[in-house]
Amino acid sequence: MQKIAVIGAGTMGNGIAHVFGMNGFDVKLIDINQTALDKAIATIDKNLSRMVTKERISEDQKAATLNAITTSTDLKKGIADADLVVEAATENVDLKLRIFKDMDEAAKPSCILATNTSSISITQIAAATGRPDKVIGMHFMNPVPVMKLVEVIRGYATSDEVCTEVFEISKKLSKVPVEVNDYPGFVANRILMPMINEAIITLHEGVAGVEEIDTVMKLGMAHPMGPLQLADFIGLDVCLSILRVMYDGFGNPKYYPCPLLVNMVTSGNLGIKSGKGFYDYSAGPKNAVVASNFAK
Ligand code: NAD
Repeated sequence: MQKIAVIGAGTMGNGIAHVFGMNGFDVKLIDINQTALDKAIATIDKNLSRMVTKERISEDQKAATLNAITTSTDLKKGIADADLVVEAATENVDLKLRIFKDMDEAAKPSCILATNTSSISITQIAAATGRPDKVIGMHFMNPVPVMKLVEVIRGYATSDEVCTEVFEISKKLSKVPVEVNDYPGFVANRILMPMINEAIITLHEGVAGVEEIDTVMKLGMAHPMGPLQLADFIGLDVCLSILRVMYDGFGNPKYYPCPLLVNMVTSGNLGIKSGKGFYDYSAGPKNAVVASNFAK
């Protein structure tokens, strides 16, 4: 396995391309949006430079990583010779079903089709292809170059061989793969998203402000980041999509997304990626201040 294609060059796609490129794979990063591709390469460059400054990699390794990653806006051409595709496009069921149908038509018969979806059924995605045994969830965590976990999700038809190969390739990226079964939200988001949603409900009901809620969870529970800041970091649109998948999938009102979250996404306040969510990032992601809507 040498040739990897990554579909979607957003928050996750650039990180996934980064780690594959840094570990000796040839990477084709594909997006429908050329601006997203340009931004992704600039982000990878910046993140690699930070690693050079911290003496974790050399200048030569940085150059080799950037050389290993090429970009394309043509999905079918871009994946034609790939051994593994990792799809990291927008969290939307219809979009992913369409992408997997297209990938199945264009990829080599032996190619493994993985998805980085946070919550959508692997079994449903696999059913859009003629190779459900080769479809699997490969759920990286954000930020990908830093976080060790890969949640490996077996769909109903995923073969043992494909699961073993994805475990091996995750280890080659110095990640720790963990196998889980295919239920809405899998393990990571089934536990994380209700906590984030409850933090938003707590804010919405006026129990406490943004900083107070995040401080309670940071200092009281030893979380490195408060749940509202984490939601901004993940993307509020992504959080909303995941909650809706779990709400629909389990039919349980405990996953009902807070109306404040729905309003924020509808108004385009998506967190770091749009510059404003619960916090304002005008002065950069590391200088977050509570957004004016919530400032006391
Ligand atoms: P994002 O919104 O930052 O980026 C999505 C990218 O997909 C955009 O650049 C968009 O142009 C591109 N895209 C849309 N349609 C496409 C198509 N047909 N072909 C190619 N590219 C297309 O989203 P993200 O946060 O990177 O999330 C991507 C996936 O990763 C989602 O499934 C999400 O659930 C999952 N995920 C996200 C996080 C997170 O913290 N954000 C963590 C783990 C998993």
